Amino acid sequence: MEKTTQLYEGKAKKVYATADPNLCVVSYKDDATAFNGLKKGTIVGKGVVNNRMTNMMMRLLEKQGVPTHFVEELSDRETLVKKVKIVALEVIIRNVSAGSFAKRYGVEEGIVFDEPTIEFSYKNDDLGDPLLNEYHALALKLATKDEIAVIKKYAFKVNEVLKEYFLKLGVRLIDFKLEFGRLTDGTIVLADEISPDTCRFWDAKTGEKLDKDRFRRDMGGVEDAYKEIFKRVITGE
Ligand code: ADP
Ligand code: UDP
Repeated sequence: MEKTTQLYEGKAKKVYATADPNLCVVSYKDDATAFNGLKKGTIVGKGVVNNRMTNMMMRLLEKQGVPTHFVEELSDRETLVKKVKIVALEVIIRNVSAGSFAKRYGVEEGIVFDEPTIEFSYKNDDLGDPLLNEYHALALKLATKDEIAVIKKYAFKVNEVLKEYFLKLGVRLIDFKLEFGRLTDGTIVLADEISPDTCRFWDAKTGEKLDKDRFRRDMGGVEDAYKEIFKRVITGE
């Protein structure tokens, strides 16, 4: 299936139509942004890592009973996916305090939670993706009660599967963001990406950050961190 017209260019990916109205092609760029687009840069090779890693995660999750948009990897940077209407919610699961959680609640990073947390933000760049709860999501008609229940069930399942998967690679899954979409028949599936752009990964031994925080925080070694996590995913160790 070949891509035809470009439907959308986002901060990290482009989305193309195909001859089949139910399928589209996602193309991963090396462009990196942070702080709602305020900070811009390039992470050489990121598009390849994020595309291939996302596809491996989607295949793993499908096997574990989480339906996803994944259809076929077309090349290093391009993947055929089921076209969905994205639910305008960013779904964030956390196992350990970090980032905006630590800032918002005035706690240090690295506190291990007894239970994972879930939070939603309204996927709206103009508003800076404001945090909201389920009642707000219902009031704004972003999703139905049933859809929110399914999304929560899948999000926690994703966490269980990925937490265990990464621990075997010597990596702690600290937190991550998911997006879900609706197929034409309304079925909810996991969409978008699962990559060092959207997850926090800390080396289990050294605590070294292997994710986009190296870019956000100008820590250096960004490309190497993406290479390292990708190497572990590819080699399985
Ligand atoms: P952003 O829009 O935040 O800049 P990206 O650069 O990652 O993000 O752009 C990719 C866009 O494609 C996102 O808006 C994402 O919600 C959307 N998307 C992801 N998967 C699908 C899909 N299967 N069908 C349609 N749109 C999708
Ligand atoms: N995240 C994301 N996109 C966003 C916001 C957050 O992928 O627009 C991911 C981020 O990489 C991290 C998790 O969600 O793994 C939690 O992010 P947090 O709320 O701490 O925000 P940040 O520190 O990125 O501002």
